[in-house]
Amino acid sequence: MANPSDTFEERLSKEYDLKGRTRRVIILSAILYLSFLLLDKFTTSMFTTFLIIRLVVIAAHGVLFALLNRIKTNRGYTNVCIVLALFDVGGISLMIWLLGGFASMYVQGLYLIIIGIVIVVPLAFRQTLYLFVFIWASYVIPSAAVLLSRRTSWLDVFTNLFFLSAMVLLGVFGSYIMENIRRRELTSRIQLEDTAAQLQESNAKLKSLDELKTQFFANVNHELRTPLTLMLAPLKAILEGRMGKLSAVLRDTLETMQRNGYKLLKLINNLLDLTKLEEGKMRLKIKTVNLIDFTASLLSSVKPMADQKQIRLYFQHPPHPVELTIDPDQFEKVILNLLSNALKFTPKGGKITVYVEDKDGAISLTVEDTGIGIPANMLESIFDRFSQVDGSKSRPQEGTGIGLSLVREIVNLHQGAIRAESTLGKGSRFIVDLLKGEDHFSAEVLDRRLEDHPVGLKRRATDSGEPRVQDIVADFRRLQLVDLERVDIEGAAGEATKTHDALILVIDDNPEVLKLMRMLLSDEYDLELTTSAEKGLALMRDKTPDLVLCDVMMPGMDGHMFSRAVKGDEALKHTPVILVTARTGAEMISEGIQAGADDYISKPFDSVELKARIKALLRIREVESELALLNRNLKMRTSDLVDQQRSLFLSTVKSLVSAIDAKDEYTRHHSTRVTEFTLKIARTMDFSEKELGDLELAALLHDVGKIAVPESILNKPGRLTDEEFALIKEHPARGESILSPVVELKEIARIVRAHHEHYDGTGYPDGLKGHEIPLGARIMAVADAYDSITSERPYRKAASHRYAVKEIIRCSGNQFDPEVVEHFLEISGSLGQVLAVPADGA
Ligand code: ADP
Repeated sequence: MANPSDTFEERLSKEYDLKGRTRRVIILSAILYLSFLLLDKFTTSMFTTFLIIRLVVIAAHGVLFALLNRIKTNRGYTNVCIVLALFDVGGISLMIWLLGGFASMYVQGLYLIIIGIVIVVPLAFRQTLYLFVFIWASYVIPSAAVLLSRRTSWLDVFTNLFFLSAMVLLGVFGSYIMENIRRRELTSRIQLEDTAAQLQESNAKLKSLDELKTQFFANVNHELRTPLTLMLAPLKAILEGRMGKLSAVLRDTLETMQRNGYKLLKLINNLLDLTKLEEGKMRLKIKTVNLIDFTASLLSSVKPMADQKQIRLYFQHPPHPVELTIDPDQFEKVILNLLSNALKFTPKGGKITVYVEDKDGAISLTVEDTGIGIPANMLESIFDRFSQVDGSKSRPQEGTGIGLSLVREIVNLHQGAIRAESTLGKGSRFIVDLLKGEDHFSAEVLDRRLEDHPVGLKRRATDSGEPRVQDIVADFRRLQLVDLERVDIEGAAGEATKTHDALILVIDDNPEVLKLMRMLLSDEYDLELTTSAEKGLALMRDKTPDLVLCDVMMPGMDGHMFSRAVKGDEALKHTPVILVTARTGAEMISEGIQAGADDYISKPFDSVELKARIKALLRIREVESELALLNRNLKMRTSDLVDQQRSLFLSTVKSLVSAIDAKDEYTRHHSTRVTEFTLKIARTMDFSEKELGDLELAALLHDVGKIAVPESILNKPGRLTDEEFALIKEHPARGESILSPVVELKEIARIVRAHHEHYDGTGYPDGLKGHEIPLGARIMAVADAYDSITSERPYRKAASHRYAVKEIIRCSGNQFDPEVVEHFLEISGSLGQVLAVPADGA
């Protein structure tokens, strides 16, 4: 036997049953040796000699055969084979020699031996090589010795020698190949053995891991479910009024706690059931029931929920009882899960139908709904653990994706089959096919014990004194359907009458969370609660809350989208938003802050922390609005000051104008009238209030440069000399230089400088043309001319209004802008009246 500590060579030598093989080789060789006597009889005259030789060799066989039992080692067996071969070869070589050497046909006996050694005896290559050299020599040397003394055909000599040599070479080569094959075979086998050993090791590890897992689930069972039941049991007692009367608010809060405890318990139970099923540890306690009554009773359990959602329930079944052998506790889960999914995924006003069909030997139960349907590519995979059609955070329904995998496992354990059919948007059907009778249940699946406890709810032997799930969930079906229970936010009637300083809007798709917020915050704040971000946005516009608390994971618009919408809206962006989420992690927080949220708090949150954060944000907002108010006041004060400054400035300007007017007795009030005419024309030309204000100033000040012209020249009755006229012509430029140091008057100074420019470019001081002349200056030019013509001058009398108008029309296009003249003509009627009432001595 091979043992693990053997070297490769030792293993190789132990590969074959050498003892058995040697024994068979000895027998075969002896038989062949004897049988060739027949050949001797016909081929040689030395029959007796040959008989003796053969008998001697056979006797050696006998001795070797006898020796075999004494030998214990592989090497010993190989040596016996070699000695046997030497005897065989020796006998045949002797006969060849006696027959005359080279040409004897007995050489073929040597071929047989060579073939036998290569095929039958697993000798090492080196041993084979030496043996074959011996064979060759034992033929060649004696034959060579008698070659010349006998008459021999050279062709025979050559042929035999050639064939034997070729045979020896072939044998050596064959033996080399055979040894290699033997080595390779052993190497592969050793590798195979190693792999098998590794596999065995992994298998053992897996087994122990599996045991650990089972142990872990047993612990989960104990560590999670026990505390949960210990919480739920007293809760139940309190709710039953066994510890005193409860206020409505307290009852509501306790019911919320109970409902959520049930949800957790259901989840743990489902996970444990699934694990047991997948490990093949679930046992069935079968019973024959009437499937129609069984199903009807389950349908009546879901009826209230269906009514709430306004979904119609139908049950179609044969008129006779339908007997089926099932584990009722387990099968209840199948039907309730299918019904609860149908209710979950069918919108208001829909219809759910359950069919029971009795086909011979088999029964099928179908749950059909008119709900949202399932995409064709998911009809198989929804039965996988954790699989959901829309696994995104924004899916509208709660769920874990465990229900259907549990259903499939239970159905499989009943040797049944389940499949789904669906048309997207129209509805789905889940069809369960089951066999009648109980022959199809394998013995190992059945739980024969009498004690009655549903799988997944068993107690461990050590769990003495702990309440059992049956004790705390009176209606076990309620646990299965707890996800469907509708929560009414308005149910939590806090005293909503009191009003507080701040209004907080809370957005969460889970009504229970809204209720919790109400409980925590209603004492200090006014609250608006809503279940979707879309409604939240509308409420923000309507009620202008001071702060918003918003869940992140919601169907439709999620918390991040909501924050972005709020911060992108001018009217809402100042309202602080706190995001509340069950998902934590730096990425999540940074995504929220990037979306514009002002703060982030994770569930489960500490109520003190929540309140502190709300307070801090409200304080910041208060300070911000105080700052905004101060800012507004400051702006108003500044604009008041600007107005005051302007009116002060205007009165200064007016005094200045009076000073100018006073210098020139003929043109008294000229600036005031020019201002009046200018504004009248400008008002017909779409000037803004600001532009009119500037133009008013410009018109009032247009002759301010005349301060620099001596009164004697201004009031000179006769013709002016060229020098005097040149001095007068300087007044627009001087006016500009008086005004331009005041920054606000820059534009006005430009108009003043240009008020003697002519439309055709013949005016002064710059000879500007057309639209190069500021519009204000073009208007003022017309107003100025009109007033000059219609008022008395030292050198001429005042002309009439009609004359002035005619003159202006005549100069339209050369001195005046024709467009301005048009506007002037529009208002010229009213100017006639102004003239009719002589202006204070003008
Ligand atoms: P859960 O309902 O807890 O998510 P299930 O395993 O019961 O898990 O269902 C897996 C998924 O299969 C569901 O999330 C839903 O996407 C889909 N599904 C199951 N039943 C229906 C149905 N009647 N109509 C539409 N979709 C369904």
